[in-house]
Amino acid sequence: MVLSIKTRRDAVGLATGELLIGGAWRAAADGRTWTHRHPATGEQVGDFAVASPADVDAAVRAARQAFDEGSWPRSRAKQRITVLRRMAELIRSHTDELRTLQALDNGVPLTFGDEYAMSIECVADVFDHHAGWVDKLAGETLPGYQGGDHLVMTLREPVGVVAAVVPWNGPLLLAAQKVAPALAAGCTVVLKPSEFATFAALRLARLFEEAGLPPGVLNVVTGPGDPTGQALITHPMVDKITFTGSRAVGKRVLAAASEGMKRVSLELGGKSPSIVFPDAEVYAAATLTMGTVTLGLSGQACVAHSRALVHRDVYDEFLAIAQGMTTLVTYGDPFDPEVTAAPLINERQRDRVLGYIERGQAEGARLVCGGGRPDGELSAGNFVEPAVFADVANSATIAQEEIFGPVLAVVPFTDEEEAVRLANDTSYGLAATVYTADVKRAIRMARAVRAGTVGVNGYQLEPHVAFGGFGQSGLGREGGRTSIEAYTEVKTVLIPTGDEMM
Ligand code: NAD
Repeated sequence: MVLSIKTRRDAVGLATGELLIGGAWRAAADGRTWTHRHPATGEQVGDFAVASPADVDAAVRAARQAFDEGSWPRSRAKQRITVLRRMAELIRSHTDELRTLQALDNGVPLTFGDEYAMSIECVADVFDHHAGWVDKLAGETLPGYQGGDHLVMTLREPVGVVAAVVPWNGPLLLAAQKVAPALAAGCTVVLKPSEFATFAALRLARLFEEAGLPPGVLNVVTGPGDPTGQALITHPMVDKITFTGSRAVGKRVLAAASEGMKRVSLELGGKSPSIVFPDAEVYAAATLTMGTVTLGLSGQACVAHSRALVHRDVYDEFLAIAQGMTTLVTYGDPFDPEVTAAPLINERQRDRVLGYIERGQAEGARLVCGGGRPDGELSAGNFVEPAVFADVANSATIAQEEIFGPVLAVVPFTDEEEAVRLANDTSYGLAATVYTADVKRAIRMARAVRAGTVGVNGYQLEPHVAFGGFGQSGLGREGGRTSIEAYTEVKTVLIPTGDEMM
């Protein structure tokens, strides 16, 4: 059988070359397009419109008008709840189609969508979760502090026009985590999906129309970081930028936000550790850790636990299990239920990962297995065989930099104090998981490790919990109350209640 996504692509029949601006679908003003090639086969997925700065300007102005003059920011809670809940239902009823589009976008195997955090159900739940917040966005009422009688009241108002820039690895979930709270809070949005995952985002936008979202409240501009993303984050009429992506681009977003003092949220990368103590269930620790760098996204996940800190007493056992896991990984057609792992998203990323594998060896780490490229028909795709490195110094490049591929660096440690020091010896701080049977140690470690989310004997993301990073893993949190509050401004209202002036 020839590996090809053509039949799937042709069956979808979705218009790809359009932008959504002010409720109308249209091509880019200058007609420019971007060709996305499928990472598993190199075949053309679609020609997507490249929104020029003029298109981005039109989209931001549409969002501005919808915010300043439209009904959405002024709507009753019931209207917003109804649209968000309808959206959740529409997403559920289009599960198969959306899964297909995601796999056409990024080559992540369909089977991986059975994992809750990667599922369409989770995307729908993000909308349901935020629908639940709409009528609970409360301020405070305080008594006066001094002077005459007065009350102090705070209101939470929508922050304004939101520019949402998302990556390709979870195109629906990561868009939902921004668009759902922004809309719930009464903001208007310009969404820029990744140029490597446009299909699914365009379908999501069409579902919003079906859900009854007024025109101009959600606008979609497709295209690469330059010119489309850059024009969006620097646009003076944007009030807030919410960005998920690499640290390098995150820094540009932060710089762009400083001009005009835009509000900003950043969900960036990580070099998250699995920390394995000798009393842990080593098999579970090794398979769960390897799962984050092999299964599904092949390590192209912000929360990939690509650094294993393993106690010397169980080090060899851990390595043997990790190595064994690599033999279970299968690549190929993402629609084949036997396939477990994705290709790397593009040739550039594939070569970058191969470069890290070379560098790891050059810096003295021991390559236990993997690190090559499969041959035959798989050579047309961007596949890299999962690599396990042993005897890695925590200061080595492969233990410090986010590789975003199927590479695990295993670092030995001797005691708890050293484990904490190594875990925190990183510029990132997104996630960590502690494997131990000792509850007290688990809690001590959870408190000592500087990371936004710490798992104990396992790691699971859900829409209602705050997710985000310490250090250079980002600014702010997504999920839960913190998520929706980040799309609001607090306004304080001072009200005299007696005859005296305040
Ligand atoms: P990326 O930073 O290359 O791109 C992310 C988005 O930014 C894309 O839409 C891209 O077109 C856009 N972009 C690129 N240059 C831009 C510019 N100059 N101005 C404005 N926009 C620009 O990241 P990626 O390769 O798509 O995704 C991988 C990265 O995302 C990894 O670092 C990963 O850790 C991170 N990520 C983080 C989370 C999280 O929640 N913390 C989740 C998923 C992915």
